[in-house]
Amino acid sequence: MHQGLALDNGQHILIGAYRDTLQLLTTVGVATQDSLWRMPLHLHNLAGHGVSLPQLPAPWNLLAGILSAQGWSWADKFSILRAATLWQRQGFRCDPALTVAEICQALQPRVMKQLIEPLCVSALNLPASQASAQVFLTVLHDAVWTGQGSSDMLLPKVDLGRLMPDAAHAWLSSHGAEVHTHQRVDAIEPWLTHSVLLACPPWEAARLTQSLAPEWSALAAGLVHTAITTVYVRTQQRLGWSYPLLALDENAQAPAQFAFDKGRLSADPAMKGVLALVVSASSTDRDKLSTQVLQQVHDQLGLHDATLITTVVEKRATFACLPALVRPSMQVSKGVFACGDYVAGPYPATLEAAVRSGFAAIEALAQV
Ligand SMILES: Cc1cc2nc3c(=O)[nH]c(=O)nc-3n(C[C@H](O)[C@H](O)[C@H](O)COP(=O)(O)OP(=O)(O)OC[C@H]3O[C@@H](n4cnc5c(N)ncnc54)[C@H](O)[C@@H]3O)c2cc1C
Repeated sequence: MHQGLALDNGQHILIGAYRDTLQLLTTVGVATQDSLWRMPLHLHNLAGHGVSLPQLPAPWNLLAGILSAQGWSWADKFSILRAATLWQRQGFRCDPALTVAEICQALQPRVMKQLIEPLCVSALNLPASQASAQVFLTVLHDAVWTGQGSSDMLLPKVDLGRLMPDAAHAWLSSHGAEVHTHQRVDAIEPWLTHSVLLACPPWEAARLTQSLAPEWSALAAGLVHTAITTVYVRTQQRLGWSYPLLALDENAQAPAQFAFDKGRLSADPAMKGVLALVVSASSTDRDKLSTQVLQQVHDQLGLHDATLITTVVEKRATFACLPALVRPSMQVSKGVFACGDYVAGPYPATLEAAVRSGFAAIEALAQV
């Protein structure tokens, strides 16, 4: 709690293509239309520049979004349409060793800055110069090409704990499961290893499996992580944004990529005037980030009265989704499985990756 507010460790965005996450939420009784704010993929800054994808079937959504992009020249628009056509023709596959920047060399700088960089850093938590092109293409395909609404952004109206774990806990209890929270697993007892599912972060899974499966453990321990910082501020000024999300003009001195209007998202009156500013792929210098982002809020959003509530730096927010990365497999050893966003799969570290991995592991456990 900060100033009486329940604030998440970070602001999450789901997208319409998060098929399994949305299914899971529905299964455990969450009314997603009430708990999530659905809006089109909207990457406009305060000046109105950027792309917004209308709710049309693919590829018309992309075509209409690109052709109507505000502040873009025809050269900008044609460069991304050409690239998207090529990626589609190649079945959204590329050499796994390539970075996003490498497959985007023909794009105009404005397209990189206002479309590819924000998409890449929010999905993979890495800048285009470092992120895996293959994983990026997979996310792009699922978001833009898999049916109407798949590219929509879904913003939680409640804190994440209430959105998912609380509902899951209640559902499990009502189905006869015993749920023990706030209890750390210290070790896996050898007699237990006929049917174990590790659903913890990779560094914990690595510690727990060190003697059981040294190679698997070393792979999990070797994953590099990148940080996400969320700066919460308060303003009394009126915002007047079209949506509760705004893209920001990121640069070395102004590191936040997105601003969220928590007051508009939440039904809690105490959230009025609260903004969450997200710095993906951030450094970990909390004080410097707080100062820079507050300045960015003053300069780019014109909110001169904004004051800092708190800054949350998640140092190991996601594993670094680097080109050709080898991720730990679902099976650790006989009877022992792992699930989580870091387990081998097509997606970067996201809620959807974690949920899909969980479903796959449960299926495998059922066969043991
Ligand atoms: C700041 C931030 C912003 C993000 N934004 C987005 C976003 O916009 N969209 C998106 O899709 N994803 C986002 N993510 C990523 C998303 O949160 C993760 O991919 C997802 O939560 C991973 O789920 P998981 O089940 O793999 O791991 P976790 O959610 O980390 O769950 C692991 C659990 O294991 C528990 N645990 C650890 N050690 C032990 C132990 N020894 N014994 C028992 N329990 C243990 C932990 O307490 C935790 O509850 C964000 C992440 C962060 C940090």
